[in-house]
Amino acid sequence: MDGVPYFIRLEEALAIVRDMPTVDSEEEAMLDDAHGRFLARDLVSLVDDPPFDNSAMDGFACTHDPNATYPLKLSMTGVVPAAKADGSLIVEHGQAVRIMTGAPMPSGANAILPIERCEVDEDEQTVTLLDEPKPHFVRKCGENIRKDAVVLARGTRLTPSRVGLCATMGHAVVPVVRRLRVAILSTGDELKTPGTALKKGEIYESNSYGLAGLTTWAGHQPVRFDAVSDTMDALRAVLDEAAQTCDLILTSGGVSMGEFDYVRRLMEEEGDIKFWRMKIRPGSPPLFGDWNGTPLFGLPGNPVSSHVVFRLLVAPYLRHATRSEGPVEWHVRARLCDPVKSTKDCLTLRRVTLQSTPEGMMAHQPRHQGSGNIESLASADGLTMLQPGQSGEVGEWIDVMVL
Ligand code: AMP
Ligand code: MG
Repeated sequence: MDGVPYFIRLEEALAIVRDMPTVDSEEEAMLDDAHGRFLARDLVSLVDDPPFDNSAMDGFACTHDPNATYPLKLSMTGVVPAAKADGSLIVEHGQAVRIMTGAPMPSGANAILPIERCEVDEDEQTVTLLDEPKPHFVRKCGENIRKDAVVLARGTRLTPSRVGLCATMGHAVVPVVRRLRVAILSTGDELKTPGTALKKGEIYESNSYGLAGLTTWAGHQPVRFDAVSDTMDALRAVLDEAAQTCDLILTSGGVSMGEFDYVRRLMEEEGDIKFWRMKIRPGSPPLFGDWNGTPLFGLPGNPVSSHVVFRLLVAPYLRHATRSEGPVEWHVRARLCDPVKSTKDCLTLRRVTLQSTPEGMMAHQPRHQGSGNIESLASADGLTMLQPGQSGEVGEWIDVMVL
């Protein structure tokens, strides 16, 4: 592996990953299918929002008179329910019309008093305003969004409120980035599918389930392959199939220094490796390259490590490849409540729980953590981003990546 970057920092690995070509293809999605997708183009509004001046309150619409005093009795001359624009209704001085939230403002009216501050006399057909009517209860045409303005940029993740915004702008269908097909391939003779009986020496295969979940969380499509046995031929055959049918390959296991670490050996002999091993703990063994032109992340076999490396490396790759923003990786500052052992040259990612207190966010590391202990990840809120040489003493303020 002469010349291949080896045991590099996270930033160096990210730079290599972000140098890969992008995969630009788009499709259309109905709004109901657009949740969690990414916009493939800038989206302009087809209408003004609101499309017309309307009332923000149930109450009475009238003309604001700066010289009036209150209480003020006005004659009731009509009603405007939502969606009923009665062009003939004109409000003059001394008059008020009953109006519902969202209903168009009748001509002549420019202020609203909410119903709670009005006294109606049905017999007399009058309303007494107890306070001054308010111009700010009129929602003006286009005050939120102007027609033809770019409101959502390409790459934006369609969260529920943004899907609602697309509908408000008049779009029934939106252009979205095609979901990448992500092959998920576990390797190891010891791995058995959950639901079958274990023999001595066997364990349940769990990484592919976690990685499939992470792929869906990142907005893409997992394609799970059966666990591959530890032989060069079996692995080569599955990698060929995955490279033909998917946009990205994730393998787990088989990338360390061991004799049976066939992903590394095969990639070394027949693939193209762009880097191997990173200065992170846990998760130092990852390998990145391509197999027959399809990018491949060789993730570590230990369940915590494969998950951590997905968050640190694969998620940023997916965002880069599709030029999309993806779900956000939040970092918060937190104070260590338990000591965390740092290392001389690696970024240390320990699992912590977070607690919000008046003194700020507190990070606790409650139990023994091995990279094979998926329970320590399942019960954690975040990962410490402890820099090489940082003390990790109780009381230190550190960065934590929220899981
Ligand atoms: P390896 O890198 O292949 O030596 O695997 C490291 C450790 O992770 C070993 O204890 C494996 O049994 C375990 N392991 C590898 N792949 C998986 C998997 N898909 N699910 C659960 N554990 C795994
Ligand atoms: Mg293995």
